[in-house]
Amino acid sequence: MAYETALFKKLLHFKAPAYLIFHVTYRCNSKCSFCFNWKLLNRPEHNKEMSLNDIEKLARNFPYLMQLTLSGGEPTLRDDLPDICYLFIRFSKVNIITIPTNGLNPGRTLKILKNICRRLEKTHLRIVLTINGPESLHDNLSGVPGAFQQVMKTFKGLVSLRQEYNNITIDVVTVLTKINCSFIPEIAGFVRNHLDINTHTLILVRGDIPNPEYKEIAPKTYLSCSKIINNTYKSNPNKPFSGILKVISELNTDIVYRTITSNHAQLPCLAGKKLIVVNPEGIVMPCEYLNKPFGDLKKTNFDLKKIINCSQVKEILKHIQKSGCYCHWECSTQANIFYNPAVWPKIIWKYLMETL
Ligand code: SF4
Ligand code: SF4
Repeated sequence: MAYETALFKKLLHFKAPAYLIFHVTYRCNSKCSFCFNWKLLNRPEHNKEMSLNDIEKLARNFPYLMQLTLSGGEPTLRDDLPDICYLFIRFSKVNIITIPTNGLNPGRTLKILKNICRRLEKTHLRIVLTINGPESLHDNLSGVPGAFQQVMKTFKGLVSLRQEYNNITIDVVTVLTKINCSFIPEIAGFVRNHLDINTHTLILVRGDIPNPEYKEIAPKTYLSCSKIINNTYKSNPNKPFSGILKVISELNTDIVYRTITSNHAQLPCLAGKKLIVVNPEGIVMPCEYLNKPFGDLKKTNFDLKKIINCSQVKEILKHIQKSGCYCHWECSTQANIFYNPAVWPKIIWKYLMETL
């Protein structure tokens, strides 16, 4: 209960950033054909990652941080990932850390994650594995032969880790592309029958990707695939926030579907306010889509307030609201649901209808 109370108290700081997506590295050991970051990966000119000293200063900017996603590239390629987590645990008292991983290097990934688990204190760790198809399709989409079997090995190790540490959960995400949409029932069935996880979610391929034709997905196909995943996944009362997460996931599917069919924003976008994105070099952005960076942390001695309060950023935020900026990036659509008090009655109502 103390954990939920701490979360709720932070939720009441309506104006403070509560969700940070920090791309800790642009290094990656995969070659996914749907990667929106592919042009930045493994380039010498993009290897100026922030040091731990800098990251400590960054963490001190977020006293009301609820969610931290440490993304990449492949985040577990940073040896100091456990230290990065600890800085946010210590200085931001972050409630939930999410680490998406391609699971390609089970030994290394499990060693790094175990070191994080040792330092979690009251923070909850979500580890998110990506499964994009049955074995050969998954390997194909990630561009790495044997990728699927490596993910399975990582999953097995994570299950042992979960037995040792009770504040971690394992989730699965599937990126929907033109290539794997007809395999969604098979993927959903496999995950449900073979992997004991907390949640399985579907995200719609986005951004500038190596194979742009993968984005040719009819909205109705997105909707039916999402429903298959949402219906296959049953909330489990023994797993943390399982019921509420399922409700938010269903609402999110509806928002994404209505966004791509209407080409209109369905809720005011909170990117740049509740949600902040920082790249490995310390550039602050409102989101991963809009090409309007807020500023460079290195130039303000890592003072985020200074960046957020400058007139240029205020103009960008005004533009986001006035232009009715819209997209289907699920991190922002979910943040727009979760951090908007006007939506809370709907979440609670839907949750009660589904559980009573
Ligand atoms: S694992 Fe992630 S960052 Fe790496 S290539 Fe795949 S989608 Fe891109
Ligand atoms: S709607 Fe999308 S592109 Fe526009 S600011 Fe929000 S997250 Fe960024």
